[in-house]
Amino acid sequence: MTAVLLDGKQLAQTMQAEIAAQTAELLRTRGLRPGLAAVLVGEDPASQIYVRNKRRACDKVGIASFLHELPAAVTELDLLALIARLNADPAVHGILVQLPLPPHINEAAVVDALSPFKDVDGFSPHSLGLLAAGRPRFLPCTPHGVLQLLVRNNIPVAGAHVVVIGRSNIVGKPLALILMQKGIDATVTVCHSRSKNLADWTRSADIVVAALGKARFLRADMVRPGAVVVDVGINRLPDGTLVGDVDFEAVRQVASAITPVPGGVGPMTITMLLYNTLQAARSV
Ligand code: NAP
Repeated sequence: MTAVLLDGKQLAQTMQAEIAAQTAELLRTRGLRPGLAAVLVGEDPASQIYVRNKRRACDKVGIASFLHELPAAVTELDLLALIARLNADPAVHGILVQLPLPPHINEAAVVDALSPFKDVDGFSPHSLGLLAAGRPRFLPCTPHGVLQLLVRNNIPVAGAHVVVIGRSNIVGKPLALILMQKGIDATVTVCHSRSKNLADWTRSADIVVAALGKARFLRADMVRPGAVVVDVGINRLPDGTLVGDVDFEAVRQVASAITPVPGGVGPMTITMLLYNTLQAARSV
């Protein structure tokens, strides 16, 4: 068997075209242009690239983006004052604080200060609490992208056993919460670095999601023939090659469907940020 490719690049284009149409409609009917404020602290090159890509994606779909660049030495108080201004700014519907922040700043304090109505990354305790309570407002972008990749490719999720490898606050844990929501209805097992007999769990899965950050960790013998495999990992090998957490060439021989890296979950993450920003503007 050779797995069908779950093409995130293609789906991201399709969804961004939908978001662009809905953004234009909002402007036409209510004179409202969704706005995303990006807060970038310091000069980390990776963070600069992420923010640039997010702003380009905003431009493409007609969402206004506002960049706030602060020096690495900015005080926590000044950063919190900026967040307070953005919380109150009616042109800003979503606020994105690019993480990580410099070590002298308490990241949790900054995330906690975001208005729950503008937390388009979905990382704040408020957003995660609503999700855990079964009435989500903003779904965190990467796990939401995983869900869209499954649903829009007609992969049955209701009743399926999904094994998620990884329990981070930005991927594994919210993904498990999303998949077990009423109406999505997966049976979810979450594995982590202390899980025993991991391969026994992964082999029992209809869908395996690898989100642990270890290059080519998931081997073909850890996957039940016919299972669906989603690879969230992004790992750079010493020679510069980008690979996921799945041994792609081997696993595609046993899986029925699989996401590539790059071009799988990655492009979906930015798309879901645009989606959340549009939702934030619509609910004003
Ligand atoms: P993280 O915060 O480092 O969390 C990794 C998780 O994997 C932890 O829960 C850890 O367990 C678990 N883990 C580590 N080694 C393991 C092992 N040998 N067996 C089982 N579980 C193990 O990473 P993250 O932020 O969730 O990111 C995970 C990967 O996704 C990374 O490659 C990251 O670059 C990528 N990522 C991609 C996107 C995207 O847009 N595509 C977005 C975010 C992240 P413990 O909790 O026990 O330590």
